[in-house]
Amino acid sequence: MIITVASGKGGTGKTTIATNLAWTLAQKRESEQESPIWLIDCDVEAPNAALFIHPIFEIEKKVERQLPIIQQDLCTGCGVCVDVCEYNALAIARGKTLFFKDLCHACGSCVLNCPENAIQESPEMIGLLQQGNRGALKFAQGILEIGFSSPTPIIRDLKKWIIPDKPQHESTYILDASPGTACPVVESLRDADFALLVTEPTPFGLHDLKLVAELIFKEFQIPSGIVINKSGRGDEIIEQFASEMKIPILMRVPLSRDIAEAYARGDLLVDAFPQYWDQFIDLYKKISEITGERQPKQ
Ligand code: SF4
Ligand code: SF4
Repeated sequence: MIITVASGKGGTGKTTIATNLAWTLAQKRESEQESPIWLIDCDVEAPNAALFIHPIFEIEKKVERQLPIIQQDLCTGCGVCVDVCEYNALAIARGKTLFFKDLCHACGSCVLNCPENAIQESPEMIGLLQQGNRGALKFAQGILEIGFSSPTPIIRDLKKWIIPDKPQHESTYILDASPGTACPVVESLRDADFALLVTEPTPFGLHDLKLVAELIFKEFQIPSGIVINKSGRGDEIIEQFASEMKIPILMRVPLSRDIAEAYARGDLLVDAFPQYWDQFIDLYKKISEITGERQPKQ
């Protein structure tokens, strides 16, 4: 099963929920010798799940893109490459072909269409993938190279690297998506069986929860559930929206100074406050019931 943990905005506690759910399930599975639990940090622009999990990384893989290199001595200035480039990354000036790297999406169209074979490709590193583990929990993350603005290819490669391409999975994959509702979140939700939406009970939290719920409704039609973090005052606005949208509220984590301090220290919630172990097991049971997956043993 693939569970993507998403939120319309940053700072809602998405990583807290993803890391604690994964860690709790891994501990339970360890004793039961069942198929592995994976935590995959897809927030490749600012991955921080590792700060809580402290994995030992074992394997790394570069993510590269193929950039066009114009061989000016072969170029006739015909302009075909400029016409086929949908991203305006090429231009002709005084008979010379100019290339604007920051606009290039590495689609390869110019290379394929150049009648003079004057465009070659050269690899450029745009990110790094890492995988490792902490105890029974398997962990992977992507890191976007500094200076690059397109995280989606890194997330796509990260998922391809870890998750087998088949309709049913024995392992459980918990994906910590980027905040927001842009392309990186869409990529993290692609192929997911369940979307776990983490929000906080404020007007801003509700606004962004609506955006991500709408994205899931329109684009993916997968089941979803809500976790209210910093729960307490103001839960009613989330409850009303959840009721209207028929999205179940699966868990609440209270607004608490002690929890905030544990987070600031880099402690997992379930390690700092063991009473949460059962709540995360219960959260997974509810998700399993909704998706029809086999539940963990008692
Ligand atoms: S298509 Fe090839 S030959 Fe034509 S302008 Fe572009 S690089 Fe030059
Ligand atoms: S690789 Fe694609 S995006 Fe980049 S310059 Fe060529 S046609 Fe344009």
